[in-house]
Amino acid sequence: MKKYILILILSLISCTNETKVHQKIIVIQPLGDFNIEQAKNVLNKIQTINPNVVLRKNIPFPKNSYYELRNRYRADTIIKTIKNNIGKDSVIVGLSNKDISVTKGKIEDWGVMGLGYHPGKACVVSDFRMSIQNKNEQFYKVVLHELGHTEGLAHCPVKTCLMRDAEGKNHLNEEKDFCIKCKTYLIEKGWNLKNP
Ligand SMILES: [Zn+2]
Ligand SMILES: [Zn+2]
Repeated sequence: MKKYILILILSLISCTNETKVHQKIIVIQPLGDFNIEQAKNVLNKIQTINPNVVLRKNIPFPKNSYYELRNRYRADTIIKTIKNNIGKDSVIVGLSNKDISVTKGKIEDWGVMGLGYHPGKACVVSDFRMSIQNKNEQFYKVVLHELGHTEGLAHCPVKTCLMRDAEGKNHLNEEKDFCIKCKTYLIEKGWNLKNP
């Protein structure tokens, strides 16, 4: 009996240590002819919240992701494919200048700005539906939103929070930062965000 208690205590100690230091490697994967400068911009910004980030060379969109009828790419197929191209402690974010889409309820092919597993190891972001004036800023906000989903965050009711549900619109200019609740969650996951 004593032995079991000891094992339990030891495993509890190792669990807490792990959650404190663990931070995933973020792999940035530009798709198709995605703009290199734009990818570097994302790299530089992510480095401020996680130094473990790598920018990969462009790869073609997964073959079976092309949706000819609307000349765009299926986001669900993209994340399903790219999630297999990384190591155990990594998460991958695909970057697209082309429109991406997913099935939403009764709508078979719905255009989106991003899609990520909740939780999981892959997400994809497209700038196709973003405003031209502050595209880089909007793009990075959606990258953070999708990475938030991969960490397990759901949509957030706070209007200025980056985890707000787009609901088919672009509210990105109203979104300022993660709210205190979402930020606290991500800091616990090892994100280097300023304490709320
Ligand atoms: Zn979302
Ligand atoms: Zn929030």
